[in-house]
Amino acid sequence: MADANFRVQSHKFTQDNIQATLVCSKCDEIFSKEFLLDLEGQTIEFRCPVCGVSGEADLPYKTAEEREEFDDDLDEVEEDTFDEFEEDY
Ligand SMILES: [Zn+2]
Repeated sequence: MADANFRVQSHKFTQDNIQATLVCSKCDEIFSKEFLLDLEGQTIEFRCPVCGVSGEADLPYKTAEEREEFDDDLDEVEEDTFDEFEEDY
């Protein structure tokens, strides 16, 4: 079983993997590690690269923004008022 927890301090999704910055609960060291995209949202177990303790990390899910879904709200920001002023020149 895991002897420690690795807390995800920050993370970034790339096209190929998840790049996470983690903190080891055993040695308090910060390290970065890459995970397969398939592991998104899962709890995985691996060894701390600093002290070698066996630990678990809860990997984050991609947010809606990170999935690059289109946001319809942006279309409503268009403003017509500026065009009317420019016609006076
Ligand atoms: Zn450690």
